[in-house]
Amino acid sequence: MKIKEILREYMLLPAPSGYEAEMAYRMKDDLALYCDATRLDRAGNCIGKINGRRAGLPVVMVFGHMDQLGFIVRRIDDKGFIQVDRLGGIPEKVLPGLSVILRGENGVWYSGVFGTKSHHAMSQEEKYNVERVTELYIDIGARSKEEVEGLSIHVGCPVIYKPSFSELHGDRITGTAVDNRGACACLVGIAKLLNQKRPDCDVYIVGTVWEEFNLRGAMLAARTIKPDIAISLDVTLAGDTHDLSAHFEDTLGGGPCVQLYSFHGRGTLNGTLPHAPLFKSVKETAARLCCPLQRFAALGILTDTAYIQLEGEGVACLEMGFPARYTHTPNEVCDVNDIAALSVLVAEVVLDIDENFQLNRL
Ligand SMILES: [Zn+2]
Repeated sequence: MKIKEILREYMLLPAPSGYEAEMAYRMKDDLALYCDATRLDRAGNCIGKINGRRAGLPVVMVFGHMDQLGFIVRRIDDKGFIQVDRLGGIPEKVLPGLSVILRGENGVWYSGVFGTKSHHAMSQEEKYNVERVTELYIDIGARSKEEVEGLSIHVGCPVIYKPSFSELHGDRITGTAVDNRGACACLVGIAKLLNQKRPDCDVYIVGTVWEEFNLRGAMLAARTIKPDIAISLDVTLAGDTHDLSAHFEDTLGGGPCVQLYSFHGRGTLNGTLPHAPLFKSVKETAARLCCPLQRFAALGILTDTAYIQLEGEGVACLEMGFPARYTHTPNEVCDVNDIAALSVLVAEVVLDIDENFQLNRL
């Protein structure tokens, strides 16, 4: 199956943080086609292993988060309107009038919409005001709290943007959870290539949980895998729209990205500085493949890599990815050629790893 087809299917699967089962089992089935072993760990991380041809080499983990952001039901009022809070970094200005789906405790997904005051009745001031998520409510068509609870929707149930996928011009696509199903599709592509070419070292291909929630699901996978080297795959912020062109250089269709700085303060105080020998290997491999390599660096961004790097004796980490526009909105946009090229580049980097790889940073 082509990456665009896999991506379409992955984007349409609902998998908010903590509720990744559908995505995890689907990815496990897809990885099973190319991996020597597949399993889910206790947290729900989906782990595929490709056996290396030689023993005693560094262990490699290539991973990307499977989960997506969403909301959690906080209160259901007497009229059956549902109030929520954010699960992950939701941009509140996209919410009024937006379609969502809610997962009942019976496992069924129900349709709903974020209500908003009728436009005709809004004051000038209200029209240009962004309401906080806690001021909004979701309408599922119910007339009372009893009707809502009769569907097994209760406080604590997850909600996500209504899953969508559309093809745009060329090989660009739009929809929900491009972040990070694009990476999940890429991981399957990497497994396929490694299955054909067989790496020297053991390689684990991992879809991780909880990234949008607390960034630490991947940590649990790393504790059992014990990787020496880890490459994460996630979106970077495309700098080719008029509002970001003064900030970033990466463009849609410009090829895979390497993220050279991520950092988040405000209590979190973590980030990732690239492992120099691993970055050097990526640069050399990209040059050999004649694959353009884009660079991205940003403050205020944190991925699960920041936690993986601290495991064991320290893991040689590099953040890689593909550019996406309108991140965390219901309609993110990417170019599938970037994802396909990322698969080839990462697979070739992994195929080059042997006993000569320098694990020490300095
Ligand atoms: Zn992400």
